[in-house]
Amino acid sequence: MNEREARARVRRAGIELVESGLVDGTWGNLSVRLDGGLMAITPSGRDYRALRDEDIVLVDIGTGEARGGKPSTETPLHRAVYAARPEVGAVVHTHSASASTVAAARREVPPLLDDFAQVVGPSLRVADYALPGTARMAKGVLKALGGRMAALLANHGAVALGRDMDEALLCARMAEKGCRVFIEAEFLGGAAALRPVEAWAMHQVYLRKYSKMKGAAPEARPEGESPAGGGNTAPGGDGTSR
Ligand code: 13P
Ligand code: ZN
Repeated sequence: MNEREARARVRRAGIELVESGLVDGTWGNLSVRLDGGLMAITPSGRDYRALRDEDIVLVDIGTGEARGGKPSTETPLHRAVYAARPEVGAVVHTHSASASTVAAARREVPPLLDDFAQVVGPSLRVADYALPGTARMAKGVLKALGGRMAALLANHGAVALGRDMDEALLCARMAEKGCRVFIEAEFLGGAAALRPVEAWAMHQVYLRKYSKMKGAAPEARPEGESPAGGGNTAPGGDGTSR
Protein backbone atom coordinates (compact mmCIF):
# COMPACT_ATOMS: atom_id res chain seq x y z
CA MET A 1 0.00 0.00 0.00
CA ASN A 2 1.41 3.41 -0.92
CA GLU A 3 1.02 6.73 0.93
CA ARG A 4 -1.93 7.96 -1.09
CA GLU A 5 -3.88 4.70 -0.70
CA ALA A 6 -3.07 4.49 3.02
CA ARG A 7 -4.24 8.04 3.77
CA ALA A 8 -7.48 7.47 1.84
CA ARG A 9 -8.13 4.14 3.59
CA VAL A 10 -7.61 5.59 7.08
CA ARG A 11 -9.88 8.57 6.37
CA ARG A 12 -12.67 6.33 4.99
CA ALA A 13 -12.33 3.88 7.88
CA GLY A 14 -12.73 6.77 10.36
CA ILE A 15 -16.07 7.61 8.78
CA GLU A 16 -17.08 3.92 8.83
CA LEU A 17 -16.30 3.83 12.57
CA VAL A 18 -18.44 6.89 13.28
CA GLU A 19 -21.28 5.52 11.14
CA SER A 20 -21.18 2.13 12.85
CA GLY A 21 -21.52 3.87 16.24
CA LEU A 22 -18.18 2.61 17.60
CA VAL A 23 -16.67 6.10 17.85
CA ASP A 24 -18.25 9.26 19.21
CA GLY A 25 -16.59 12.63 18.77
CA THR A 26 -12.81 12.36 18.56
CA TRP A 27 -12.17 9.47 20.98
CA GLY A 28 -10.45 6.56 19.35
CA ASN A 29 -7.88 6.36 16.56
CA LEU A 30 -6.87 4.09 13.70
CA SER A 31 -3.95 3.32 11.45
CA VAL A 32 -2.72 1.16 8.58
CA ARG A 33 0.75 -0.16 7.86
CA LEU A 34 2.25 0.89 4.55
CA ASP A 35 5.40 0.27 2.60
CA GLY A 36 8.81 1.36 3.91
CA GLY A 37 8.28 0.79 7.66
CA LEU A 38 5.63 3.51 7.92
CA MET A 39 2.11 3.71 9.26
CA ALA A 40 -0.66 6.18 8.40
CA ILE A 41 -2.61 7.29 11.51
CA THR A 42 -5.41 9.68 12.38
CA PRO A 43 -4.37 13.09 13.70
CA SER A 44 -4.97 13.85 17.39
CA GLY A 45 -8.26 15.34 18.59
CA ARG A 46 -9.96 15.77 15.22
CA ASP A 47 -13.50 14.93 14.13
CA TYR A 48 -13.27 12.07 11.62
CA ARG A 49 -16.08 13.49 9.50
CA ALA A 50 -14.11 16.67 8.85
CA LEU A 51 -10.81 15.04 7.88
CA ARG A 52 -9.22 15.23 4.45
CA ASP A 53 -6.80 12.62 3.15
CA GLU A 54 -3.90 15.04 3.63
CA ASP A 55 -4.72 15.36 7.38
CA ILE A 56 -3.74 11.73 7.97
CA VAL A 57 -0.25 11.63 9.51
CA LEU A 58 2.60 9.37 8.38
CA VAL A 59 4.75 7.96 11.18
CA ASP A 60 7.95 5.92 11.02
CA ILE A 61 7.17 2.78 13.03
CA GLY A 62 10.80 2.36 14.10
CA THR A 63 11.70 5.92 15.12
CA GLY A 64 8.32 7.57 15.75
CA GLU A 65 9.18 10.46 13.44
CA ALA A 66 5.93 12.03 12.16
CA ARG A 67 5.22 13.78 8.88
CA GLY A 68 2.18 15.93 8.08
CA GLY A 69 0.70 17.01 11.44
CA LYS A 70 0.25 15.90 15.04
CA PRO A 71 -0.37 12.15 15.16
CA SER A 72 -2.78 10.48 17.59
CA THR A 73 -1.85 10.40 21.27
CA GLU A 74 -1.93 6.61 20.99
CA THR A 75 0.88 6.52 18.42
CA PRO A 76 3.14 4.54 20.86
CA LEU A 77 0.45 1.82 21.08
CA HIS A 78 0.05 1.55 17.30
CA ARG A 79 3.84 1.49 16.77
CA ALA A 80 4.29 -1.20 19.41
CA VAL A 81 1.65 -3.44 17.82
CA TYR A 82 3.16 -3.17 14.32
CA ALA A 83 6.65 -3.81 15.68
CA ALA A 84 5.60 -6.88 17.66
CA ARG A 85 3.08 -8.40 15.23
CA PRO A 86 4.36 -8.54 11.64
CA GLU A 87 1.10 -10.03 10.33
CA VAL A 88 -0.93 -7.01 11.50
CA GLY A 89 -1.76 -4.46 8.79
CA ALA A 90 -4.27 -2.23 10.62
CA VAL A 91 -5.06 -1.14 14.19
CA VAL A 92 -8.35 0.35 15.45
CA HIS A 93 -8.80 1.85 18.94
CA THR A 94 -12.35 2.64 20.09
CA HIS A 95 -14.20 3.78 23.19
CA SER A 96 -17.32 1.83 22.19
CA ALA A 97 -20.08 1.40 24.77
CA SER A 98 -20.08 -2.29 25.73
CA ALA A 99 -16.30 -2.65 25.48
CA SER A 100 -15.94 0.36 27.79
CA THR A 101 -18.41 -1.18 30.26
CA VAL A 102 -16.47 -4.45 30.46
CA ALA A 103 -13.16 -2.53 30.57
CA ALA A 104 -14.50 -0.53 33.54
CA ALA A 105 -15.42 -3.79 35.32
CA ARG A 106 -12.01 -5.21 34.32
CA ARG A 107 -13.52 -8.57 33.39
CA GLU A 108 -12.04 -10.97 30.82
CA VAL A 109 -14.61 -11.80 28.13
CA PRO A 110 -14.72 -15.57 27.55
CA PRO A 111 -15.43 -17.11 24.13
CA LEU A 112 -19.22 -17.26 24.08
CA LEU A 113 -19.86 -17.28 20.33
CA ASP A 114 -18.24 -18.95 17.31
CA ASP A 115 -17.84 -15.74 15.29
CA PHE A 116 -16.16 -13.94 18.22
CA ALA A 117 -13.74 -16.85 18.74
CA GLN A 118 -12.95 -16.97 15.04
CA VAL A 119 -12.14 -13.29 14.57
CA VAL A 120 -10.91 -12.15 18.01
CA GLY A 121 -9.44 -15.34 19.46
CA PRO A 122 -10.15 -17.37 22.59
CA SER A 123 -10.97 -14.41 24.86
CA LEU A 124 -10.75 -10.68 25.27
CA ARG A 125 -8.36 -9.85 28.08
CA VAL A 126 -8.01 -6.55 29.92
CA ALA A 127 -4.70 -4.68 29.90
CA ASP A 128 -3.75 -3.15 33.26
CA TYR A 129 -4.69 0.49 33.62
CA ALA A 130 -2.13 2.98 32.33
CA LEU A 131 -2.45 6.59 31.24
CA PRO A 132 -3.38 7.05 27.56
CA GLY A 133 -0.47 7.43 25.18
CA THR A 134 2.16 5.96 27.50
CA ALA A 135 4.69 3.24 26.72
CA ARG A 136 3.34 1.47 29.80
CA MET A 137 -0.07 1.22 28.18
CA ALA A 138 1.43 -0.12 24.95
CA LYS A 139 3.32 -2.77 26.91
CA GLY A 140 0.22 -3.79 28.85
CA VAL A 141 -1.83 -4.12 25.66
CA LEU A 142 0.74 -6.38 23.99
CA LYS A 143 0.67 -8.59 27.08
CA ALA A 144 -3.14 -8.71 27.13
CA LEU A 145 -3.24 -9.51 23.39
CA GLY A 146 -0.92 -12.50 23.76
CA GLY A 147 -1.44 -13.37 20.09
CA ARG A 148 -5.15 -12.47 20.04
CA MET A 149 -6.62 -9.92 17.63
CA ALA A 150 -8.18 -7.63 20.26
CA ALA A 151 -7.84 -6.54 23.90
CA LEU A 152 -9.58 -4.24 26.35
CA LEU A 153 -7.86 -1.29 28.04
CA ALA A 154 -8.86 -1.01 31.70
CA ASN A 155 -11.23 1.93 32.28
CA HIS A 156 -10.66 3.16 28.75
CA GLY A 157 -11.82 1.14 25.70
CA ALA A 158 -10.69 -1.48 23.22
CA VAL A 159 -8.05 -2.14 20.59
CA ALA A 160 -8.74 -4.38 17.57
CA LEU A 161 -6.28 -5.64 14.95
CA GLY A 162 -6.59 -6.93 11.41
CA ARG A 163 -4.41 -8.13 8.58
CA ASP A 164 -5.98 -5.23 6.71
CA MET A 165 -8.36 -2.40 7.60
CA ASP A 166 -11.52 -4.31 6.67
CA GLU A 167 -10.55 -7.05 9.08
CA ALA A 168 -9.61 -4.60 11.87
CA LEU A 169 -13.02 -2.92 11.53
CA LEU A 170 -14.71 -6.34 11.60
CA CYS A 171 -12.69 -7.24 14.69
CA ALA A 172 -13.69 -3.99 16.44
CA ARG A 173 -17.37 -4.74 15.76
CA MET A 174 -16.95 -8.35 16.88
CA ALA A 175 -15.20 -7.33 20.12
CA GLU A 176 -18.00 -4.86 20.84
CA LYS A 177 -20.64 -7.54 20.16
CA GLY A 178 -18.75 -10.04 22.33
CA CYS A 179 -18.77 -7.55 25.23
CA ARG A 180 -22.48 -6.82 24.80
CA VAL A 181 -23.35 -10.53 24.70
CA PHE A 182 -21.19 -11.15 27.78
CA ILE A 183 -22.92 -8.40 29.78
CA GLU A 184 -26.37 -9.64 28.78
CA ALA A 185 -25.60 -13.33 29.32
CA GLU A 186 -24.27 -12.54 32.80
CA PHE A 187 -27.44 -10.61 33.46
CA LEU A 188 -29.53 -13.62 32.35
CA GLY A 189 -27.87 -15.80 34.95
CA GLY A 190 -24.35 -16.48 33.75
CA ALA A 191 -22.33 -16.72 30.56
CA ALA A 192 -21.53 -20.30 29.47
CA ALA A 193 -18.18 -20.30 27.63
CA LEU A 194 -16.80 -22.49 24.88
CA ARG A 195 -13.72 -24.50 25.76
CA PRO A 196 -10.51 -22.44 25.19
CA VAL A 197 -8.90 -25.15 23.06
CA GLU A 198 -11.91 -25.17 20.72
CA ALA A 199 -11.94 -21.38 20.60
CA TRP A 200 -8.24 -21.32 19.56
CA ALA A 201 -8.94 -23.97 16.92
CA MET A 202 -11.80 -21.90 15.48
CA HIS A 203 -9.56 -18.82 15.42
CA GLN A 204 -6.90 -20.71 13.45
CA VAL A 205 -9.46 -22.06 10.97
CA TYR A 206 -10.78 -18.52 10.45
CA LEU A 207 -7.29 -17.05 9.89
CA ARG A 208 -6.06 -19.77 7.56
CA LYS A 209 -9.18 -20.81 5.67
CA TYR A 210 -12.55 -19.23 6.39
CA SER A 211 -11.45 -15.59 5.94
CA LYS A 212 -9.97 -16.48 2.55
CA MET A 213 -13.11 -18.03 1.09
CA LYS A 214 -14.71 -16.13 -1.72
CA GLY A 215 -17.38 -13.85 -0.30
CA ALA A 216 -16.17 -14.11 3.34
CA ALA A 217 -16.64 -10.83 5.20
CA PRO A 218 -13.11 -9.37 5.00
CA GLU A 219 -13.06 -9.97 1.25
CA ALA A 220 -15.60 -7.21 0.88
CA ARG A 221 -12.38 -5.20 0.69
CA PRO A 222 -11.77 -3.06 -2.38
CA GLU A 223 -10.33 -4.71 -5.48
CA GLY A 224 -6.64 -5.54 -5.12
CA GLU A 225 -6.42 -4.95 -1.36
CA SER A 226 -5.41 -8.27 0.15
CA PRO A 227 -4.47 -9.27 3.69
CA ALA A 228 -0.87 -8.50 4.53
CA GLY A 229 1.20 -11.59 5.23
CA GLY A 230 -1.48 -14.10 4.20
CA GLY A 231 -1.17 -17.47 5.91
CA ASN A 232 -1.03 -15.71 9.22
CA THR A 233 -0.21 -17.66 12.29
CA ALA A 234 -1.11 -15.71 15.37
CA PRO A 235 1.80 -15.85 17.80
CA GLY A 236 0.92 -17.94 20.81
CA GLY A 237 -1.77 -19.92 19.00
CA ASP A 238 -0.96 -22.93 21.04
CA GLY A 239 -4.41 -24.08 22.03
CA THR A 240 -4.28 -22.63 25.53
CA SER A 241 -6.28 -19.77 26.98
CA ARG A 242 -3.27 -18.21 28.76
P1 13P B 1 -6.36 11.07 19.90
O1 13P B 1 -7.47 12.04 19.52
O2 13P B 1 -5.08 11.78 20.24
O3 13P B 1 -6.21 9.98 18.87
O4 13P B 1 -6.79 10.38 21.28
C1 13P B 1 -8.04 9.78 21.45
C2 13P B 1 -7.94 8.62 22.37
O5 13P B 1 -8.78 7.75 22.27
C3 13P B 1 -6.86 8.54 23.39
O6 13P B 1 -6.86 7.31 24.02
ZN1 ZN C 1 -8.63 6.16 23.83
